[in-house]
Order: sequence, then structure tokens, then C-alpha cells
Amino acid sequence: MNTFDIIRPGTLADAVTAYRNHGDAMYLSGGMTLVPSLKAHLAAPGLLIDLTAITELLGISHEDDVLRIGALTRFADVAASSTVAAAIPALAAMAGLVADRHVRNRGTLGGSVANNDPAADFPAAVLALGATLVTDRRRIAAEAYFTGLFETALEEGEILAALEFPVPDAAAYAKHPHPASGYAVAGVFVARFGADWRVAVTGSGAEGVFRLTAAEAAMIAGGPAATIPVAHADLPLFDDPAFPAPFRAAAIGWLLSEALGAL
Ligand SMILES: Cc1cc2nc3c(=O)[nH]c(=O)nc-3n(C[C@H](O)[C@H](O)[C@H](O)COP(=O)(O)OP(=O)(O)OC[C@H]3O[C@@H](n4cnc5c(N)ncnc54)[C@H](O)[C@@H]3O)c2cc1C
Repeated sequence: MNTFDIIRPGTLADAVTAYRNHGDAMYLSGGMTLVPSLKAHLAAPGLLIDLTAITELLGISHEDDVLRIGALTRFADVAASSTVAAAIPALAAMAGLVADRHVRNRGTLGGSVANNDPAADFPAAVLALGATLVTDRRRIAAEAYFTGLFETALEEGEILAALEFPVPDAAAYAKHPHPASGYAVAGVFVARFGADWRVAVTGSGAEGVFRLTAAEAAMIAGGPAATIPVAHADLPLFDDPAFPAPFRAAAIGWLLSEALGAL
């Protein structure tokens, strides 16, 4: 059995200092990914730094067309927030689609986006909305943040503190959930800012979340009713026996239509 220490600092600065001083530490938020990883011995830190007492990581606010959500905010709180529902209702709806009630009551936005599971929902919203990831030391644009499967631009010991979402004119998310886990087999987030359209796909990308640029161009040229081809040969999709690439491409096409229909 692996053993580890656990501390619960009260400030962001103390958490970062503890990480630097220890050398073999990991941050813990909701534990919905990390605790199963510890149990399966996929992670074996010497120190767990529990972030849940850090109030700087909490809070939901809407100012100047930006919705800011603290990294420690749980999915259940995003789903129930009247501020989120008024600013970007698609985000509240997306939070309600994550996993089950238990995971939504523990799992946090920051934990999800820091982990960057290719089947997680929120990376699609972050990329489609062009969010800014605010950390303990800098601000990272969504385009520069997602660097691969379970990989991000976060540096060693860097804490994701908040997510800032520009408020679009309209947005919607449609998801085909895995029948066992609820994770996205494919999920499509569509956002409109004036005449500009942004579309991001999660769940199916063999290199993680990606923008569906051909669809964006077609919609900018012809509006949401434009004919949008989604061909698996053109996209970097997972191709496994349960969900082959042609199925995933078809799912992306029908989810795009579903999201556009919900705008
Ligand atoms: C049964 C099940 C079903 C699920 N279904 C879905 C689903 O449908 N959709 C979906 O999107 N997700 C799903 N998930 C994943 C779930 O959303 C994640 O487990 C959760 O979001 C991770 O957040 P957490 O707060 O629990 O992070 P933790 O498990 O505490 O941490 C995850 C990782 O992120 C790091 N970390 C945590 N917080 C921060 C931070 N603020 N800054 C830097 N690093 C940090 C940790 O060190 C760890 O490496 C499911 C999980 C389970 C167990």
C-alpha cells in the first residue's frame, strides 16, 4: 500500500509553497479522478495538497461580458447557478450532463480542465468560447492551453484558479454519452459571437478536444443552416471497436445539428 501525507492550506500562496517545498506532491480538488487513480496505483504522490479550503478558488461572477467561475466550483453548483444560467445557459446545462449526481456534487471545473481527459465535457466549452484560464501565476488562452491527451500548458505545480468565459450571443452543447460512464463519446459545443461561429468537439479527438474549423467556416459563410460535411478521414478521431471513427464522425454531425437546433 502507498502511504502519503495530506495537508489542507488556506491560501493559494501556501498551496504553491507546499508543492515547491515537497517535490513529490499532487493537488486534490474533488478527488473524482485522483482518488480512483490513487486506489489503482496510477498515481503515488508523497503529499496530497487538498485545495478545498482555499476560498480564492471559489465564486461565480458576471461582469463586462465575462463569466468568471472559480476553479473549485463543483459541477452541481454550476448547474444550479442563476448567474451562469443568465449569462451562458449552455454551461449550466453542460454541468448537469456530467456523469451522475455523486460526481457532480464532488467534481470541480478546475479539476476537470486541469486533468483534460479527452472524454470530459468542459474542455469543449473552454475551447469553443475562447475562455481564459487564470492560474496562480498567469493567464492562458484556451487555444494555447490544451496540448494533448491529459496534457495542458499548466507548468509543474501551477494551480488553475479560475476560468473566464466571454459571454456569447448564443451557445449550446449536445453530447452522446457513453452508456456506462456518462463520459462523452462525442460532444459538440457551438457558440456564436456576432457573425462569428466557434465549434469545439470533445470525446472523440485522438489528440484531445479540437475545433471543427470546416463547420465554423461553412457557418460563417452560410449561417447555421449551411450544409456541413463531417468526414472521419479529415478528422483526428479515436477509432476503436466500440465506437469506430466513422460512427464518431456521424455522431459529431448529428450532435452539431442538435446543438444548432437548440440555439
Ligand atoms: C464515474 C465517473 C463518471 C464521469 N463522467 C464524466 C462526464 O460525463 N463528463 C466529464 O466531463 N467528466 C466525467 N467524469 C470526470 C469528472 O468530471 C472528473 O473526475 C472531475 O471533473 C475531476 O475533478 P476533481 O475536482 O474531482 O479533480 P481531482 O480528481 O481532485 O483532480 C484531478 C486532477 O487535476 C489536478 N487538479 C485538481 N484541481 C486542480 C487545480 N485547481 N489546479 C491544478 N491541478 C488541479 C489533480 O492534481 C489531479 O491530477 C467522471 C468521473 C467518474 C468517476
